[in-house]
Amino acid sequence: MKKVSDYFGMNVFNDAKMQERLPKPIYKALRKTIENGEALDITIANVVAHAMKDWAIEMGCTHYTHWFQPMTGVTAEKHDSFISPKGDEVIMEFSGKELIKGEPDASSFPSGGIRATFEARGYTTWDPTSPAFVRDGTLYIPTAFCSYTGELLDKKTPLLRSMERLSDEAVKILHLLGKTEVTRVATTVGPEQEYFLIDKDLFNKRVDLKMTGRTLFGAKAPKGQELEDHYFGAINTRVAAYMRDLDEELWKLGIFAKTKHNEVAPSQHELAPVFTTSNIATDHNELTMEIMQKVAEKHNMVCLLHEKPFKGVNGSGKHNNWSISTNTGENLLNPGKNPEKNTQFLLFLAAIVKAVDEYQDLLRITVASAGNDHRLGANEAPPAIISMYLGDDLDALVHSIIKGEDYHSHKAARMQTGVDVLADFKKDNSDRNRTSPFAFTGNKFEFRALGSSLNIGCPNYMLNTMVAEELSQFYEALKNSIDVEVVAKELIKQVFTEHSRIIFNGDNYSGEWVKEAERRGLLNMKTLPEAFEKLLDQKNIDLFAKNNIYSEEELRARHEIELDMYSKQINIEGLTMQQMARKDIIPAVSAFIHELADTAVAKKAVSKQISTKSEEKLIVSLSDKLDKFIRLTDELRDEVCTASSLTDPQEEASYYQKNVIPKMEELREVGDRMEMETSQKFWPYPSYTELLFSV
Ligand code: ADP
Ligand code: MG
Repeated sequence: MKKVSDYFGMNVFNDAKMQERLPKPIYKALRKTIENGEALDITIANVVAHAMKDWAIEMGCTHYTHWFQPMTGVTAEKHDSFISPKGDEVIMEFSGKELIKGEPDASSFPSGGIRATFEARGYTTWDPTSPAFVRDGTLYIPTAFCSYTGELLDKKTPLLRSMERLSDEAVKILHLLGKTEVTRVATTVGPEQEYFLIDKDLFNKRVDLKMTGRTLFGAKAPKGQELEDHYFGAINTRVAAYMRDLDEELWKLGIFAKTKHNEVAPSQHELAPVFTTSNIATDHNELTMEIMQKVAEKHNMVCLLHEKPFKGVNGSGKHNNWSISTNTGENLLNPGKNPEKNTQFLLFLAAIVKAVDEYQDLLRITVASAGNDHRLGANEAPPAIISMYLGDDLDALVHSIIKGEDYHSHKAARMQTGVDVLADFKKDNSDRNRTSPFAFTGNKFEFRALGSSLNIGCPNYMLNTMVAEELSQFYEALKNSIDVEVVAKELIKQVFTEHSRIIFNGDNYSGEWVKEAERRGLLNMKTLPEAFEKLLDQKNIDLFAKNNIYSEEELRARHEIELDMYSKQINIEGLTMQQMARKDIIPAVSAFIHELADTAVAKKAVSKQISTKSEEKLIVSLSDKLDKFIRLTDELRDEVCTASSLTDPQEEASYYQKNVIPKMEELREVGDRMEMETSQKFWPYPSYTELLFSV
């Protein structure tokens, strides 16, 4: 048995290896860059590159790649070998310049019209705050990606910028409160990742899963998640072997994979890592999603990361646990024993409350995707209405502050199990509210509306930026006050009073909440095209420009890219459905009808007395449905045609959402009813029963 501690991080050029392999002054300079964001000198980069290359070659590498996160939502890489000709031989070389800068052709990555193709040059630049690692004989270097003229083309750069913004503003506030020893603040994230595992042979028989990641047809299995027997259930042998392999691969890459369990739906599982800084957590989550899929292949399974692979069973999300902590090791979202006296905590809490209220549209936008639209508000994930949950104690505290009343915090009660051999323990002060999109869970917030395939960089730079903005406003209000404590308390009261509408502790799945939220003036944007109409509101343009995250032009580009990707995805779904209908389903049902007719004729040939009523009934029923099915397939074709002929990205996306998706649903409805009436022998695809209970 290998010991985890012996191989944890073996494929990473981590701090220990840097310390061991770099001359002391170089190591120190690099640490300064990593910890304080100081610019890196090329002479230092040269030495680091050399050491990195030597280590990578020892690890069996022949290539290196700049690894980046373009707007497509999947990571990108272009491999270069280390070889450099020397006469008719080669030596292995890797310079500081190659480490720092790469030039992938940027023309094939989405830029939202920022760059014309003739200015296709793009740059990747080394992000020294996220360690390089080795995979499949290649040295991977995490990088940011931008255009020749400096516009952002990726998801990492805004995250890095937002982390710096939040740090700057939080440090200013902490200094005002007397914590002058704090020099940097980092946001931390722990993402809980849900996924499905299905058998690969079955997957290969489903063109919808292959093309779109979700089933476009498929009648409900007799058993779904009703019995709730899968959640936290015993993990079966095949899945357990997969999870073991997965953990091992992740640990080798220094990823803190910690918790694993079965989820609510059959074949659904979850993996959660120990939290780390937002930037590394994002890189690690991207890697985790890739490795989940690779390891599944080895086990002849497919890992589905789509938000809604199966109709009628819970889809997959990702909980983004987020907090802020100082370089002195203090978690700023820890309320402590007496939150009512903890001005620092209350200020940060107030900043978050104000941010979530003022930028609820951005939080909704950042989790919007074609896949996630199926989940939000469908009673399996939070609604599309953004609100926050504070738990009973904090909620009471906030309300006592608003009313100007005294507040005494409750002591955490002891949980008594009533069984002597079981130890009693302290109960958490806040119970879980599983239905809230943004819930306080003791010393962090859990943003629960993310879809499973999302790059978590996006919600995190939104959160960091909007909280940085509020803190900078707080700083302006506090900086000249003689008694900061007194003015801070007034500010906290004012903010809670003005923004308490965003706090909701009840059941977010209930119909009453939808009405109540509307009464409170909260937004309820059910779909991506609807949500994106808000992205370019002046207040959002101002937020990003003022905090140096995006220029207006870059924000417009992002707007266009996201809408375009949405339209493309629905377009592919619409085309795939038509192909399935015409090439597989219509011929299959027709053949089954033919067999029924043959049977009826054969029966009559034996004796006119034999009843053929059942065959006739089925033939009539299926023939009617088939007519309707063919008509709807034609209508879907026309709707997809109209949608794709539109040129304005917003109009096109809205057309897909309002016209194409409902048509797809209508077609599916008839298709699924035919599946229920057609012999399995004739039906061209594995059923939900097979798919969901295959591993
Ligand atoms: P819970 O059971 O309340 O959800 P866990 O301890 O299981 O809490 O944590 C869930 C996720 O939250 C894990 O990924 C964990 O690493 C992460 N987490 C815990 N503390 C923090 C923090 N301070 N910042 C960010 N994430 C955190
Ligand atoms: Mg959780």
